[in-house]
Amino acid sequence: MLLDNDEVGLQSAIFFETPEEIFARVFSELKPRTPPPPVRVEFRKFANANSIIQWDEAGLRVRITDVLDGAPAQILEALAHILLSKLLRRTPPRSYAERYRRYLNRKEMRRSLELVKQARGRKFVSGPQGAVYNLEEIFEELNFRYFHGLMARPLLGWSRQRSQVMLGHYDPSHNAIILSRLLDSTGVVRLGVEYVLFHEMLHLRFPVDHRGARRCVHTPDFKQAEREFPQLKEAKELLKKICG
Ligand SMILES: [Zn+2]
Repeated sequence: MLLDNDEVGLQSAIFFETPEEIFARVFSELKPRTPPPPVRVEFRKFANANSIIQWDEAGLRVRITDVLDGAPAQILEALAHILLSKLLRRTPPRSYAERYRRYLNRKEMRRSLELVKQARGRKFVSGPQGAVYNLEEIFEELNFRYFHGLMARPLLGWSRQRSQVMLGHYDPSHNAIILSRLLDSTGVVRLGVEYVLFHEMLHLRFPVDHRGARRCVHTPDFKQAEREFPQLKEAKELLKKICG
C-alpha cells in the first residue's frame, strides 16, 4: 500500500503536474464515475498551516498556505487526498496523512510556519501606509536612486510604539524593515524618513551573520555606501533633534 502510493507520487514528480492537475487526478481516483470539476488552487498568506477546499457550481476551489507553495508534488498529492477525502466524507488513507504530517513536522517547515505566524499573527506591525508617509513609495524612490531599482522589496511597516531609541531596524528573519512610528508625523521632514529607510536598506544590502545577538553592524562597505546619501549630515542632525 505504502509502496503503491509512493510510486504514484514519484510519477507525479516526473511528469510535473500542476497543483490543479494533482487535485483533478486525485478527485478521479476517489470518484472515478464523476468527471472532475474545474479546479482552482491558490496559495494564500494564511497565518497557519490550514487549507480550505470548497466545491460549488464553479468547481473545486482550494486554498493552501503559501508556506507550501513549491512543496514537492508528493506532498501536494497527500494534501489533495486529505482535503478531498474530507470533502467526500471519507477517511483519507493513513499513508497520505502520515506523509503530509511528516513534511509539516520537518524542522525547516516548523520554522517557516512559526515565522509566518509571527509575521501574520496579531502581533505584526502595520503595513507601509502611515498617517503621513508611505514607506513603499519612499522605498521605490530610494531603490531607483541608489540601488538601480534592483532591490527586492521587503515587508515594510511602522512599529506600534513611537520608539525614540530604535528609529528603524531590518529584521532578516521576517525580511522586514520596520520604522518607528515616531517618524510618521508631519513634524518630521521627509528627508529624515528617507535616511532611516535608506540606512535599513543598506542593512539588507550588506547582510551580516548575527549568530544570535541582534546587533547593528556597520562594515566599511556599509559606511562607504551610506556616504552616497547626499544629505547625510543634515539627516543625522535632524534625527538627533527628533530624538532629543
Ligand atoms: Zn544600522
